[in-house]
Amino acid sequence: MSGKKKLKDLLHQSDNRTCADCGAPDPKWASPTIGVFLCLKCCGVHRTLGPNISKVLSVTLDEWTDEEIDAMIEVGGNSSANSIYEAHFPDGVSKLGPDASHEQRARYIRSKYEHQDFLKPSLKISSNNAPSASSAKEPVNVPSASSNPVQKPVCVEGAIGNLKITILQGANLAVRDMLSSDPYIVVSLGEQKAQTTVQKSNLNPIWNEDLMLSVPEDYGPVKLQVFDYDTFSADDIMGEAEIDIQPMLTSAMAYGDASQFGDMQIGKWLKSHDNALLEDSTVNIVDGKIKQEVSLQLQNVESGIIYLEVEFIPP
Ligand SMILES: [Zn+2]
Repeated sequence: MSGKKKLKDLLHQSDNRTCADCGAPDPKWASPTIGVFLCLKCCGVHRTLGPNISKVLSVTLDEWTDEEIDAMIEVGGNSSANSIYEAHFPDGVSKLGPDASHEQRARYIRSKYEHQDFLKPSLKISSNNAPSASSAKEPVNVPSASSNPVQKPVCVEGAIGNLKITILQGANLAVRDMLSSDPYIVVSLGEQKAQTTVQKSNLNPIWNEDLMLSVPEDYGPVKLQVFDYDTFSADDIMGEAEIDIQPMLTSAMAYGDASQFGDMQIGKWLKSHDNALLEDSTVNIVDGKIKQEVSLQLQNVESGIIYLEVEFIPP
């Protein structure tokens, strides 16, 4: 049996159909370090614990090594893991629920794995009984998305889902070197950035590259910038545009689980004089996924069009 298939089978085991920490349905993330399946919100907290305590991966979108898959199978799923990590709740502590606040979630997950406060009393060793004050501290050394271009799905604390932006192609881009340009694209959302590869001497480049961004609760528009790669000086800008993701997210929230619906249009981002759209951009359910095709006329530049597709990947 292939590794991916083994992982899918484990995920379909009944105890793994809910998040190991908060019980939210349909977890799509996992920590092979611990051996648990997690919802996006809990995964975001796990990520702040650091990869030594909990390395997190997307079940469906990440590449897993055989070792990581074997580690999950060895633990045997959420029930087995929780029979250790949630063996014994101290007075006043109870199991986390799916609607817990961010603070409750962070405190619970840190107690559970970092301080291991819920082990059977006989298993506890004194070094694990860290002073409770430390659990209130803000996490340090959180990997910064901006210094580390994100090409893979991420679960970020407080995120409500992920966007997969497929940069399809550019057309009629501006000339920045003698006769041509070496374009690449950067997309950003809040602090996060992701970028495509550089296309050598090409004003009509075809990328077909996926860029991943996580969507924070207070998201704004996605900013897209095209640059000309320059070996000897700072890269020149070749235009920019904003992608309004609100129509997509609003309809995604309204429809919930898109896999329950057939192919249909569920929303629209309208072309207007104050956005960069070339034409109205519809939001559709396609094969159970929420997708939107977008054509952008680059702004603040003499010419250039970018074609892309956005997919919202719910938590
Ligand atoms: Zn959870």
